[in-house]
Amino acid sequence: MAATCATVYSFFVKTIRAELDQDMVHAARPMLADLSSDPHKDNLSELNLQEQMLLVVDPAGHLLNKSRNVDSGTVERIGRFPKTPSLTFRTLEGPTGRVRAAMIPFESNHQALWFVIAQPTAEIEFSEWRFRDTLFGIWVLSLLLTAVIAAWYVGNTLRPITDLTRRAAVLTESMADPMQTEPLGSLPVTNPNDEVGQLASTFNLLFNRMDAVFRQLRQFVSDASHELRTPLSVLRGETHYLIEQERSPQEYQGTLRIIESELAALTGIVEGLFTLSMADAGQLRLSLEPLNLDEVLDEACGIAAPGARSKKIRIERLRWDEVPFAGDQALLRQLFLILLENAIKYSAPGTAIRVEIQIFEGRPRVRVCDQGIGIAPEHLPHIFERFYRAAPDPNEESRSGGLGLAIAKAIIHAHHATIECMSKVGTGSSFTLWFPSESTASSAERIHTMV
Ligand code: ADP
Repeated sequence: MAATCATVYSFFVKTIRAELDQDMVHAARPMLADLSSDPHKDNLSELNLQEQMLLVVDPAGHLLNKSRNVDSGTVERIGRFPKTPSLTFRTLEGPTGRVRAAMIPFESNHQALWFVIAQPTAEIEFSEWRFRDTLFGIWVLSLLLTAVIAAWYVGNTLRPITDLTRRAAVLTESMADPMQTEPLGSLPVTNPNDEVGQLASTFNLLFNRMDAVFRQLRQFVSDASHELRTPLSVLRGETHYLIEQERSPQEYQGTLRIIESELAALTGIVEGLFTLSMADAGQLRLSLEPLNLDEVLDEACGIAAPGARSKKIRIERLRWDEVPFAGDQALLRQLFLILLENAIKYSAPGTAIRVEIQIFEGRPRVRVCDQGIGIAPEHLPHIFERFYRAAPDPNEESRSGGLGLAIAKAIIHAHHATIECMSKVGTGSSFTLWFPSESTASSAERIHTMV
């Protein structure tokens, strides 16, 4: 704005000065016509002009003719005339103020002469001063106006953001509140297409995710403590029973067996939690090695066999292909065991568990099917969640703490495999594992070569 004002002002000054110069040249024209015939003919000394001073000077600077209002020092103030005769303008400092002079060359009787017409600049200086003051006033006023408009506009623009920040702070506080059980509200999205609306939508997404994580975490801690509480209270009860009074060797043995089994359950839960926390942190280190999946599955079936036998459950091997694979043997064995033990746990005596392994459509596929109690459709989407139980554990002794399938999922994920579960209540369940084809023979070979 300052630059614009300065430009306008300098343009104005230039224009009115140019106009003054033009006016003087204009006024000089008729007089010059007379003077050209005789420089003394038109006796300028008779003229007593208020505005303009007129002089006729020869190139040496001798005053030949002048109007009455020209004082003696004017010729000195004009100074030297240009060597080449051309129209020249000068601003002179006079005794009564500044004077603008136009020096016009002309010829009279073949003699080169100068006609000087001069005019005080007081009037145009006054106009300039007034214009400058008005411009300055406009500048200050527009600055104030701009400041007021900007403050109003910025305030208006930022109001939704201030509102958003306030509401976001409220949401953040209620999210961290452990007593908060109600679903978290969301920030209002007035216009989903503008920046503030997009910011609010992104915040809502973030809040919802964080809320879900907080809830999961709270649920996890409460489930974990619940799972740990049962074996711990059994342990306390049994040890109290032992130290209460002297017991017979048989009683000691029986109670110690219970303590051992509870300790095993506790260890299982703690180890399971550790495996899951490693998987969550992305630190479930796989010691990949070339192996045969069918051999690992066979080994798992062998480990599960005594448990199946004690429940009079048959483990039937259907298709049994040789499947070379690159994976972590211990974790894969644990994965197969989880599926087999669940199948045994949730099946009635006298039933059969069918296990098969084959390369199907180019990918290794492992299937464990049982004829057990099955899983209701509303539970199916949740069975891989931590501590989720679709049905009460029918066999307290083999309690795995509801972590089995969650651990299985982590192992599956680490091997880039997938799992599908199909189940019908009262008929049985079938778990199908799909392993990546890339990790079959070629990867196994590559790892073998690297080893
Ligand atoms: P749990 O220790 O309870 O077996 P899991 O994570 O292994 O924990 O399984 C989660 C839930 O899924 C089980 O509580 C059970 O209800 C259901 N489930 C898993 N496998 C089977 C199966 N083969 N037959 C019926 N229900 C099953």
